[in-house]
Parts: sequence; C-alpha cells; structure tokens
Amino acid sequence: MEHCILQVALDTPLDLTFDYRWRQTAAEPLPQVGQLAIVPFGRREAAGVIVGIAGHSEVPEAKLKDVLAVRSQLPPLSPQWLALCGFAADYYQRPLGEVALPGLPKNLRILKTVALDRALKKLAKSVTEHDASPVNTPQLNAEQQQAVSAIAEAKGFAPLLLYGVTGSGKTEVYLQAAAGILAAADAAGELAQILILVPEINLTPQLESNIRTRFPGLDVVSLHSGLAEGERTLNWLAAHLGRARIILGTRLAILASLPHLKLIVIDEEHDPSYKQQEGLRYSARDLAVWRAHQLAIPVVLGSATPSLETWQHAQAKRYRKLELRERAVKDAVLPQVRMIDMERDKPADGLTSTLVAALKLRLERGEQSLLFLNRRGYAPVLSCDSCGWISNCTRCTSFMVLHKPDRRLRCHHCSLELYIPKSCPTCGNIDLQPLGRGTQRVEEGLQSLFPQARILRIDADSTRLKGSAQTAFDSVHRGDVDILIGTQMVAKGHDFKRLTLVGVMNPDTALFSHDYRASERLFAQLMQVAGRAGRAGQKEGGSVSQVMIQSRYPNHPLYSAVVGHDYDGFATSLLEERQQAALPPFIYQALLRAEARELDTALAFLQDAVACIEHHGITMHDPIPMTMTRVANVERAQLLVECSSRPGLQAFLKDWMQILRQTKTRAKWSLEVDPVDI
Ligand code: ADP
Ligand code: ZN
Ligand code: ZN
Repeated sequence: MEHCILQVALDTPLDLTFDYRWRQTAAEPLPQVGQLAIVPFGRREAAGVIVGIAGHSEVPEAKLKDVLAVRSQLPPLSPQWLALCGFAADYYQRPLGEVALPGLPKNLRILKTVALDRALKKLAKSVTEHDASPVNTPQLNAEQQQAVSAIAEAKGFAPLLLYGVTGSGKTEVYLQAAAGILAAADAAGELAQILILVPEINLTPQLESNIRTRFPGLDVVSLHSGLAEGERTLNWLAAHLGRARIILGTRLAILASLPHLKLIVIDEEHDPSYKQQEGLRYSARDLAVWRAHQLAIPVVLGSATPSLETWQHAQAKRYRKLELRERAVKDAVLPQVRMIDMERDKPADGLTSTLVAALKLRLERGEQSLLFLNRRGYAPVLSCDSCGWISNCTRCTSFMVLHKPDRRLRCHHCSLELYIPKSCPTCGNIDLQPLGRGTQRVEEGLQSLFPQARILRIDADSTRLKGSAQTAFDSVHRGDVDILIGTQMVAKGHDFKRLTLVGVMNPDTALFSHDYRASERLFAQLMQVAGRAGRAGQKEGGSVSQVMIQSRYPNHPLYSAVVGHDYDGFATSLLEERQQAALPPFIYQALLRAEARELDTALAFLQDAVACIEHHGITMHDPIPMTMTRVANVERAQLLVECSSRPGLQAFLKDWMQILRQTKTRAKWSLEVDPVDI
C-alpha cells in the first residue's frame, strides 16, 4: 500500500490549498488532478478539487488527515477548466476554491454517492431521440447569412459583436451558426458543444423550446439557479461528460465544465444580469471572452444596444462587428417612437390623454398594448398629509412600499413587512395617502378606465408562484390579453406577435441619477421595450406600431436618440463623455466595500485601507457612505480606486489584498473588480 499527498483547493476564505494523505489500495484507481475529493475539514466534510499530487508534504505526518473519497467515477475537470477558475480567482482577487466549487452540483460535493450514482445510471440509460421529423428552417436574409458565415468560418479566437436591431432575427443567426459548427465537427469526427448564455432563462422559455425543436437529435440542457438539485446534477454531468451538445444557461453556466466547447453565444450581452452581485462578483460576459480566447474559438456577443465596453472594442476593431439593420419578418418595421410632453398633456392616474386615446384605438382594433413601468407595488410611499409622516423602513435608508392587494407595507431591500396602518402612527390621522405610482396602481386605474378590457399585470409580485410567469406569458401570446402592464420582466426578449403599442409611463428619474451608467441603462431599456412593438408584419388596416414615452423632458438628447433609433450616435456621444470624464471603459476601477453596525467602523476600515499602502499611479477616492447607507440595520460605506491601466490596477490589488487580509477589523468587507453599480 502506497501513500501520496493530494493538494486540494477548498471553498474557504483563505487562498490556500490543503494537503491530505491518500492511501492507495488495489481496488481504487490513482487519483488525478482535476478530480473532486471529499475531505475532513474542521469538524465537517468538505469537497475540494485536486490541484496537485505530491510525494510528501510540509505538514507533519501526525497532523495529516486522510482523504475520505475521490470521485473516481467521473473524468477529471480539464486543465483548461482549472485555468479558467484560476484566472477568475486571480482577476477578481478571490480564492480558487471559491470560484471552482460553489458552481458544482451539491450531489457531487457530499460524501454519499447515492444521488450521483443514480444520475450517472440515468444518463447512461437515456437515449436521445434521433428520428424526430426535420424542421423547416427559415430562409436567412442577406445580412443574417453573412453573420452566420462569419461565425461558422471564424478561425481561432474570434470575438464577434452581432449588432442587430430588435426583431432582426439574432436568434436565428445563433441557431444556424451553431448548426454549422456542430455539422463541421461531426464531419471531422469530433465532438462539439455550444454554450448559449441568456440574461434570465425564465423569461425566455420560447428560446429553449425553439432550440429543442431545431435540434431534435441532440441533447440540449439548461443550467440556471432555478433548477431542482436532481436536474441540476443531471444537466451538469451531461455537459461535463460531453453528452450535452447545446447548453443554454444564465451567467453561472460560464463556469460549467464543457470539454468540447466550440462556440459561446451571449444573447443581450449588455444585460446587467451577466454581472454577479455578491460573493465572486464576476462578469460572465468578460469570462466568456477570456474562455473563448483560451480555447481559440468564436464568441458571439449579441445586442441591439451593446454595452459601451463592447462597442468600444468593436470601434477599435478588436471585435468584429456583424450588423443586422432590418427586422427579419416580412413587412415588420421598427415602431414609430414619439415623446409625450407631460407638462402639456397633464396625466390623470399616470396616463396622458394621448396615451389613453392610443390604448382605446388598440382596444377597438383588437390589438395588444404594453405599458411599461419599472416599479412594482401600488405606490412607493405611504404618507400623512397632516403631520408629514412617511413610510420609512426602520431598518434601511428606504421607504416601505405599499402593496395594496395583500394589504402590506413591504421593504424591497430587507423584506420587512407590516400591515398597512389604519391611521398615522404619529398623529392618528386616518386619511393616509399613497404617493407615486407602481404597477398595481396603474392596473387599478386601467380597470376603471377600460372596464371591458382584459388587463394583465406581470411583475415579480404577480409571478411569485413557480410556473406562473410562464402561464402569464402564454396568455399574452395566445391573445387573451388586451393590455399588459409590467416591469422590466416584460421588456426583455419576448416576441409578442400582436403588440402594436408600447407606452412608457415615466422614465425620467434615471436621467438624473448619480450613477454614470444610468443613462446607458435607460437607453438600452427603452430600446428593448420599444422593440416589443410591431414584430409581426403590419396588417392591412392595422395600426402602425407605436411607442409613446411620457416625460417632463421630451427634448432630452437621450430621448431624441431613442426616437431616432440611433444607438450609434448615442453610444458615440456617451463614449466621448466618458473619455472626457475619465470613466470606464477608459479607466479601470475597483470598489472596496465595508459594512458594520456602526458607520464609523466601516469608514475607519476604509480610511486605514487608504493609508496602509503606497499607491503610485492609482487614484484612491475618499471613503464615503453608500447612497443607500443602511440595509437591514447594517451601515455600508465604499472606497473607489482607479487606474489608467488594467495590469497596473491588478498588480496593486494583489498587494493591497494581502495587507487587508491581515488587517483586524469588525467591519465585513469585500472587493469588486470592474464594479457596475457605484
Ligand atoms: P431579435 O432577437 O433580433 O430581437 P428574434 O430572433 O426574436 O429577433 O427574431 C424576430 C422574429 O423574426 C422571430 O419571430 C423570428 O422567428 C423571425 N425571423 C428570424 N429570422 C427570420 C427570417 N430569415 N425570415 C423570416 N422570419 C425570421
Ligand atoms: Zn400624521
Ligand atoms: Zn428595509
């Protein structure tokens, strides 16, 4: 019997690997780098990835513990996969184990193998249907065809921006490019896997079923956080074993093990949900580009409103731009966008008379309308006119939102819930007033305005039950809804065929946000929601599809760009502004956050963090309380650091983190590289 030492990366806050003793028996195969090991860690068992195998350890013999099990029934994770995790760990300044392990299905990480064995058996037994009937694929237009060829014929690392207006048929390009790459691999006797990332899978069930019908002979799996544990294990294994050929996932899928990856697609690449906002705060889009580079494969970034980072790369010819200028469906044209001046046409119940008339016309013609308001609840604040009381959250720097249907006040930040008070808690006044307007209140207003209309609200509240979002969207597609009201949930991706009017209720607040990215986001959001209108060809006698944006600043340049469908011009002027103000993508940033019971504790930690290191070539801003300073009784502060070079920033962060990890503080702190919410 021989011993060896397995060096194991564990999901711990320490950036270390841990040595364990492996006792080789005749019955078991030799462990390999990239395999998972279950080891004792403190008083519990933990899973780790074997990153090295050695003859002996620095740890004294008496202190060495034995490995409990190695997952030898699975092929090891590839060196490329380990390198991807290593890169992410390095770049985002986190331990390797924290990158590599949390994404693995839980059934792989526990000592008991019952669930894993069952999953492997099930996979081995399942057969893919190969005899499904062939599907008609639509005839591509010239621009789509060019894009497909460019992707399928790309050699080596090829970052491609698929810049196509809403409804231009980007999905069709992804699918046919994928088909081309799969066929070429088949012909060469190789395996190919295609990874398609989408912002939110629950909002794109259409895509999943389209892919399945388009590739009836192939295993298609999805990877996202909504999957039950058993299914997640099966899907992850299918990807890891090379069985799954098309993997449709959300941002977490970028860290999946995909040994035969030949193409990555990122749909709606500008979408903020590609950025993880806690723990390892990675950008799935940026990791996708790195992964494509590592594997020397094409990566397609699709959007009608690319992120400024991506646009800048395309302008500098680092990314190749593939353009789709027209809508794909015959006779479908981009909607006419029009501003409605709320100073002149004063709204009643939030709706201007122009918008009401347009809704009425759609109802008469039997066409659908969509009202977009990115604020859920009935009203953002409840207030007392007589003493000035307002519904502040007692635990956060925010208001409790009025939710009328379930008679609650609810804080959207800490989830605190209260019954709506019958009278003012301060002065006893019984006439409390809702201030402002959320989707529930708009729904109520519409019901009294159009009692005959079939009105449906879709937001996080109306779709809390599993499957209810799907049911709601199905009824819109079936034509069972006349007026749809919704938050950003309805703005993205959906191909609503009967929709000819989009009304945007009041987007002005984002114009004056302190966050410099707010206008980029607002523009993308308006273009997206506008893009839901007029997707089917125009019918004889039907209305021209229209988008109406209610605003107090109808002449604002951002709105003029939306009216002109002018992403190009808007992006150019934003990039100029960013360059002049030395903001990303012309500068590189990291954000150190600290939180504590007392604001002073958090600020003191950040002040020490500034003082603890020389920082030539690095700009350190003053530590400041975050805009929303208190959440759930925790006070939060932040410190922004900037550098004109990415490697310069990276080198600095490395040294800085080493010092900070030794610093004693009662504050909880974290670092975010390339932050998006400042
Ligand atoms: P995008 O993602 O660019 O907004 P979609 O991929 O949703 O657009 O496509 C919009 C519509 O156009 C879909 O209904 C799709 O089936 C249709 N479509 C795509 N390509 C073609 C084509 N070449 N001919 C006809 N219809 C097409
Ligand atoms: Zn009062
Ligand atoms: Zn709260």
